[in-house]
Amino acid sequence: MTAAGTPDPVLSISAVTVSYGEAVAVDAISLHVAPGEQVALLGPSGAGKSTILRLAAGAVRPDRGEVEVLGRRWLGSSSDRQLARRVAVIHQHLELVGPLKVIHNVNAGRLGAWSTRQALASLIRPREVTEGRVALGALGLDDRWRERTDRLSGGQQQRVAVARAMRQQAELVLADEPISAVDPAWRRRVLELLLADCTARRATLVASLHDANLAVEYFDRLVGIADGRVAFDLPAAQVNTDVLTRLYGAAV
Ligand code: ADP
Ligand code: MG
Repeated sequence: MTAAGTPDPVLSISAVTVSYGEAVAVDAISLHVAPGEQVALLGPSGAGKSTILRLAAGAVRPDRGEVEVLGRRWLGSSSDRQLARRVAVIHQHLELVGPLKVIHNVNAGRLGAWSTRQALASLIRPREVTEGRVALGALGLDDRWRERTDRLSGGQQQRVAVARAMRQQAELVLADEPISAVDPAWRRRVLELLLADCTARRATLVASLHDANLAVEYFDRLVGIADGRVAFDLPAAQVNTDVLTRLYGAAV
């Protein structure tokens, strides 16, 4: 708890700047996310959304400023495995192992909870198949669990990445455009499942979304990012067409 009696943030990005070479990707940005919040990051391509999620995931280091995740200073996933298992990431580029069966990629979400021996044994005889199939089934992929992952379409692979994140049962879920490749018929369903899973477990969700209308419809809080800065940070009810036009117009 803070002195004001509000819960400590799950994610705290304070005055953080990240540059890739000469290019400033995020510029003295601050973003604080409370436990259980569901936050959508919106903004034009190149605005800095993925960089913010990578900061939260410990995959890039701030040049300046501080990142705290679940109350701890975040120095990167390889340096803090205990913390890494509490944070699930749905990467924009999925990061699935193509030649492995779908169930193994889903089970990758369980690796933080398993011993090395259990993880290795699972590659021969998969563990927790029932649970994995339930997650896949909710995403319309139950019958695909034994298939090579790279045989699935891009949209189906993205659903596998969502299933993997759900199986991790993390306290903080970071999702970088989690429905970008999903077929239109499945987009809402996947988003609803991800939100329902986080709500049921009181987990915190921070997701970047391409589709502003879906973000307004489904998320509590919307953060507009433009040119590496926070353009707005508003409850969904206050995000109207004017606000969105200004956001997407800002980078044109
Ligand atoms: P978004 O997710 O909103 O599209 P990003 O965070 O991916 O934005 O990118 C922010 C800025 O940083 C963009 O100008 C992008 O070109 C640049 N950038 C992102 N990743 C890299 C990288 N690995 N190397 C160089 N520049 C990068
Ligand atoms: Mg991005």
